[in-house]
Amino acid sequence: MTEKRHPHERRRGGLSRLLALLLVSAVSFWLGRLSIKEEYERLHEQWARREEPRIRARTVPPTEQEAEEAGPESEALAQAEPPVPEAPSPQTEPERAPSRAAPTEVRPSPAGAQLRELSAEIRGSVARTLGEMLGRDLGDRLAQVTGRLLVWWVDPTRDLRRGDSLRILYELPEEGEPIVHALAFHSQKLGQTFEAFRYQARGEEFPRYYDRQGREVELRLENSPIERYEQITSLLRDGRGHQGMDFKAPVGVPVVAPFAAVVTRINFNQRINGRCVEMEDAKGRRISFLHLSEVAPEMRPGARVSRGQLVGLSGNTGRSTAPHLHYQILSKSGRVLDPLKEHPTYRKSLPKSELAAFQAAVERLDRRLRLAAAD
Ligand SMILES: [Zn+2]
Repeated sequence: MTEKRHPHERRRGGLSRLLALLLVSAVSFWLGRLSIKEEYERLHEQWARREEPRIRARTVPPTEQEAEEAGPESEALAQAEPPVPEAPSPQTEPERAPSRAAPTEVRPSPAGAQLRELSAEIRGSVARTLGEMLGRDLGDRLAQVTGRLLVWWVDPTRDLRRGDSLRILYELPEEGEPIVHALAFHSQKLGQTFEAFRYQARGEEFPRYYDRQGREVELRLENSPIERYEQITSLLRDGRGHQGMDFKAPVGVPVVAPFAAVVTRINFNQRINGRCVEMEDAKGRRISFLHLSEVAPEMRPGARVSRGQLVGLSGNTGRSTAPHLHYQILSKSGRVLDPLKEHPTYRKSLPKSELAAFQAAVERLDRRLRLAAAD
């Protein structure tokens, strides 16, 4: 009997030992996962909170600052920045973080997003046309983001003709402004159709707009004051009476001097311009950077600045409703100059490795756009 029970017990013992082992390894595996997850979350949080090399803000005594605000010179720039009716957007979007931290992670195409199609014949302005279709509020908001694309092709204040057609594929996120995913615009005056497709390339921080060949719709500035930005949201020629160029960018992106210059003043008229720097170059051009979150300590009036030197960090200070850099150039006589003419410009194209994925995205968007036209 004992001999018979013995092997059975041994087998049982072996089984429970095996079970215990399994349990222990399961628990340790689970614990391991937990700590990996915690570690990931910690890193992610750290990234989201990450700050560019922080600059200690120069503290301007309030009395001095008020004196500057009252100065007659400040008026020119105070007016230079009309209220920018930009829809507020979340300050920095940590959701975008992983795409930057891990370039292999691609944002899924907008297939999952709730896309709406629209097909319109222009009557009057884009805002009026869209307002009649969607109501004033949404019409205005969509016209604004649409205008940022049209402005690269036509002068929206002069070139629109009755019967020009506009097809838009857009998304209305819960927060922030409408997102245009694809747009086709036919101009009677130019006899040409223009297209823009929104696409985020692997390893890129922001999605951008491309034509069908994968060339960016927007021009870029050589020796740009800012490299990491999402979109140019205002140009001189967009007919809004705005005197500079606005770059939509998160808070804390380095802003550099596009030309060698001498600092003339900082933090003037802060109520409107926010933290800001103005400098003058050898040609007497007055170059300014507004709404900064921080001004570099080297930026003292009289200081020489070389091209590419850090001026400060982008921000949302002063009269600004969304984080952006306002970049402005005035001639010696005070005339507003167009940065697109003061800088050499170029267009970037998608790298070859990105074209197949891009073409697939274009096809998907295009199908929806054609549906819009058929309605
Ligand atoms: Zn501006």
